[in-house]
Amino acid sequence: MLNFDLHCHSNISDGMLTPALVATRAKANGVDVWALTDHDEVGGIAVARATAEELGLRYVTGVEISVTWAGQTVHIVGLRIDETNAALVQGLADTRNGRERRARDMAAQLEKVGIVGAFEGALRHVGNPDLISRTHFARYLVEQGVCADTKTVFANYLIEGKPGYVTHRWASLEQAVGWILGAGGIAVIAHPGRYKFSLVEFGALFDCFRDYGGTAIEVVTGSHFPNQYEEYARVARHYGFLASCGSDFHGPSESRIDLGGLPPLPPGLKPVWHDWDMAAA
Ligand code: AMP
Ligand code: MN
Ligand code: MN
Ligand code: MN
Repeated sequence: MLNFDLHCHSNISDGMLTPALVATRAKANGVDVWALTDHDEVGGIAVARATAEELGLRYVTGVEISVTWAGQTVHIVGLRIDETNAALVQGLADTRNGRERRARDMAAQLEKVGIVGAFEGALRHVGNPDLISRTHFARYLVEQGVCADTKTVFANYLIEGKPGYVTHRWASLEQAVGWILGAGGIAVIAHPGRYKFSLVEFGALFDCFRDYGGTAIEVVTGSHFPNQYEEYARVARHYGFLASCGSDFHGPSESRIDLGGLPPLPPGLKPVWHDWDMAAA
């Protein structure tokens, strides 16, 4: 059976390694079919694809789009996209656009609780100045000794209700799915188990997503606890969604699951790759 890892990040978004190093690590870890899915950005794809080809790793184009739905951030992964599609490229540029303003506002909030220089500090951790994210702030605060690890920074500073959190409006669900489908891709709800929705809201999310043309959800992901694999397998079976999997790897010292390190999908699911030629063993 092939090892699929269809969700991870490079330093073109908030990962720690370059796209070439992520490809190399995926290969070394036994991944057979790989997608790089940087947040709101396709700038890493050319190098990722070229490196994968050199290494004999089957490559799938990908992206992870930030969406605001029912007042919460939801991530939608696009797989097998044409990354040169004009509407997709423009939509991603628009989605990235608010990040600098938001980062400056976050830094101003953090300054009020005595953490100075966070904007410049976070920027030093950024690999792509267009994509400053909360993760870069988290790395700066760890570097400054404010918290022991990035998880603790998020819990104490960077989530809703905490001093460094700034409300932000990302793309709409309809836009993100539309850009992905318009670029010939498959839309996948990333790590559904991470969202704090009620059962009714979850039902509405899955219905809306399907109405817009979304066809897949992540079931096995490094962003789920293992007891959530079966929970979202049931959701996939119930809604007729294809099932995807990916480590959501960000860096060797930050991610619980390494590239290629996930168990196989639970039985009775149709994998998102069920009709991909390249996925034939
Ligand atoms: P942003 O797009 O700037 O809001 O940053 C979101 C990113 O922060 C996610 O893609 C994760 O990589 C990271 N993240 C979100 N929540 C947490 C958490 N609780 N612990 C560690 N990292 C997190
Ligand atoms: Mn991330
Ligand atoms: Mn995500
Ligand atoms: Mn991710």
